[in-house]
Amino acid sequence: MTRTDPIDHTALHVLPPLPYAEDALDPIVSAKTVGFHYGKHHQGYVDTLNKLITGTDLASLSLVKLITDTAGKTDKAAIFNSAAQVWNHTFYWRSLRPKGGGAPPAALQTLIETSFGTLDACKKELATAATTQFGSGWAWLVLDAGVLKVVRTGNAETPLTMGLKPLLNLDVWEHAYYLDYQNRRADYVNAVLDKLIDWGFAADNLG
Ligand code: FE
Repeated sequence: MTRTDPIDHTALHVLPPLPYAEDALDPIVSAKTVGFHYGKHHQGYVDTLNKLITGTDLASLSLVKLITDTAGKTDKAAIFNSAAQVWNHTFYWRSLRPKGGGAPPAALQTLIETSFGTLDACKKELATAATTQFGSGWAWLVLDAGVLKVVRTGNAETPLTMGLKPLLNLDVWEHAYYLDYQNRRADYVNAVLDKLIDWGFAADNLG
């Protein structure tokens, strides 16, 4: 996460630029959805986080350290929620790309076949996690001790605090799809998996 001078308590964390234009994911995810989701929701988490930590000991921590240090602490829940949502959303924008979908890079494809059998089985498991997450949350492809797994998390929860290595995620909060798909979460999820998901980003994260 890009940070400004920590002495400047007016802008500790900044909203990273979108990796593509706001209308680049259209029509799967419309420019209107990206405009609100990135410009209002994601920006809002950044702004709230900065308000909550300004002038506290937490102001000097990196975003990931802030997330792991506040996880599970009820008196720090508001800070955790904002920090994790900043990170989760930055990761989400990078999990998508215009003209995505298709075949993963060879190393990831091999790991997918070892872990799930086929790419279709992997996508099906991601879609099931995304559609069965009750209420707001996320579906994730993660690396767990050399094996790929699909997990889902509620609200702002993130695999970063679970000892898992996130490879890609899908936002299934209603704000991610409601303008385009209304209540049809499955249509949003399947369209994203077929046409926008960036397997190259997931492969890069295997590192
Ligand atoms: Fe979101």
